[in-house]
Amino acid sequence: MRQSDVTGRFAPSPTGPLHLGSLVAALGSYLFAKSRGGQWLLRMDDLDTPRVVPGMADDILRTLEILGLHWDGEIVWQSRRDEVYAEALLKLEQLGVVYPCGCSRGEIARIATAPHGDGDELVYPGTCRNGLAPGKEPRSLRIRVPEEEVSFRDGIVGPCRQKLADVCGDFVVRRADGLFAYHLATVVDDAEAGVNQVVRGADLLASTPRQIYLQRLLGIGEPAYFHLPLVTGPDGGKLSKRDCAVSLASGRDLGRDGGTLLLAALRFLGQLFPDVPASAPPAAILAAAVAGFRPDAVPAIGGPLSTEP
Ligand code: GLU
Repeated sequence: MRQSDVTGRFAPSPTGPLHLGSLVAALGSYLFAKSRGGQWLLRMDDLDTPRVVPGMADDILRTLEILGLHWDGEIVWQSRRDEVYAEALLKLEQLGVVYPCGCSRGEIARIATAPHGDGDELVYPGTCRNGLAPGKEPRSLRIRVPEEEVSFRDGIVGPCRQKLADVCGDFVVRRADGLFAYHLATVVDDAEAGVNQVVRGADLLASTPRQIYLQRLLGIGEPAYFHLPLVTGPDGGKLSKRDCAVSLASGRDLGRDGGTLLLAALRFLGQLFPDVPASAPPAAILAAAVAGFRPDAVPAIGGPLSTEP
């Protein structure tokens, strides 16, 4: 890949303010793209409208700007792209891999057997795979997954493989509320924007094989993946969106603390402390970080992020 051919992106969900974890994802994706002379795009993942919090998209954008993380080109808003997702869904339907499912989450939870997938994911037991069960109305659309493993190489984590049938089973591409599922939308959006480098938090590592499977079906090239270490809470547990908000709305004085936050996120990403003080303008810190970026120093394992110098 020629240096200038790299296109990366940051894709926040406006369901809450940026927090230390999403700041790491923003900065990490920026550095991977910019250190290769590439473009860094911004997409607002506001597809899941019931979870979108009014005002958060603006808050995230203003926070990124204050921190000097300026994106290239126009922002893409997922909520305005239903037609494009519908086209991709049609293509999948024409391949014969999509089927209607009449099961509710509660029903699946009752039937699904261990092992369950990651997080709150349930392995779909395939109830409607060969036709809607009697008396059921279609609710969602699912995609049939293969028995073969999907494997790929993550630039930070290393070789990864997953058998979708064991981790999630046939997964939803259009939800019961009519919304397109995140996996379909992200694959379609990244492809259309020419994104060939996906740098994001390791919480999405387990979803990547589903996205790669969709790319293969849709005939879309596979981007290079880099899953960044996750920021945990101080006790090693999951960082909640409410913890450690990095935003104006949360009352943080970003004009004053921006440098300290950027330097803390750089340390977390294994980068040598750039020779600039926390009081330097964010642009100066970022320029030093881009110039000295060492992708190989990014650790695969996360932990708490200290904002103390
Ligand atoms: N919008 C997703 C999130 O905030 C990230 C999606 C992605 O990077 O693919 O968790």
